[in-house]
Amino acid sequence: MTEDPLYAGLSSVARQEATRFADRNLRVRRSAVVHAVRMIPWVAGLTLPSPACGQGWSGPGAGELHPVPDAVNCGHCLSSAEARAAAATGDGTSQPPLPFR
Ligand SMILES: [Zn+2]
Repeated sequence: MTEDPLYAGLSSVARQEATRFADRNLRVRRSAVVHAVRMIPWVAGLTLPSPACGQGWSGPGAGELHPVPDAVNCGHCLSSAEARAAAATGDGTSQPPLPFR
């Protein structure tokens, strides 16, 4: 079975990011706000870690996000049951069923 080299590269990045944020919460750049983590759709059916409350961030990408062991203190993350559920179930390790589009 051959894998598209681009897809292989992308999925490698997605795996690394998922590993980086495993059992961690998330801080955007140098912000004092700690968010829960949710895996969000990225490209080619892959996912990347993102603030669970959906807060956006500007920048080149996941390099702006830092895994931290600190407790979540973001009010949106704490008050959103949806965000908490997503953070609890998203493991990011399963392979997506969809092929490269
Ligand atoms: Zn948040």
